[in-house]
Amino acid sequence: MTLLRSISFVSVLMICSGLQFIIPCRKFESDRYKYMISNLVLVGFNNIILTFIPLIPFTAGIYAVDNKLGLFQIVKVPFVLEFILSLLILDVVIYFQHRLFHKVDFLWKLHAMHHIDPMLDTTSGLRFHPLEIIISNFIKVATILVFGITPLAVVSFEIALNLLAMFNHSNIKINKKLEHKINKILITPALHTIHHSKIKNETNSNFGFSVPWWDKLFNTFTAEGKYPQEKIHIGTLPMPGKTYQLFPGMLIYPFKKF
Ligand SMILES: [Zn+2]
Repeated sequence: MTLLRSISFVSVLMICSGLQFIIPCRKFESDRYKYMISNLVLVGFNNIILTFIPLIPFTAGIYAVDNKLGLFQIVKVPFVLEFILSLLILDVVIYFQHRLFHKVDFLWKLHAMHHIDPMLDTTSGLRFHPLEIIISNFIKVATILVFGITPLAVVSFEIALNLLAMFNHSNIKINKKLEHKINKILITPALHTIHHSKIKNETNSNFGFSVPWWDKLFNTFTAEGKYPQEKIHIGTLPMPGKTYQLFPGMLIYPFKKF
């Protein structure tokens, strides 16, 4: 499973990174490579931090199954239905977690580290503060234990979320007709870029990372932003200086006053 995860991660990272240089939506600034390196260094740093966390979603799934804990371990439903429901439950929880990170001041400061990337590319989808990842880890663990979600569903969800986040942060220009077809079932770069707009009511919309259904169901969906895709002002207001946008300054950004 670790091998599958690594292969799919590297493949999507390379395919999306390649596509955004061949067919970019917005022109890359010359120092973009600094942000890409910085975002990837952060991924390595976060992976080291996570090795110190005793209970991660995968081990919570094993614990739930071994100890017959949670809804699906008590109420038996067909395997396929249980698997699909597990993915949907985890995804809707992540949707509401994202809304929570925008709503609560301290959580927003942590999550804003993701939003102060002044331009999106594939690596922006991996750019999260370690404290946000730890909090998210506990929310996922609690969900897994309450619903008795299996390790297979947990890993499948985590791989899909990771890959889709890289895709929808990519600076890829997709033909409008094709984009409209894809965005019925997946969050596209066009939809997610609206979430990274500096305009407040656009930032507070399109919270989904994988499917657009939760935003539509809970009335947070924005199909078109104020500006066309090529001209969306990406970031937050105010924006910190470059020191705090890049590693390691980005780690202390949530604790600074601007
Ligand atoms: Zn956000």
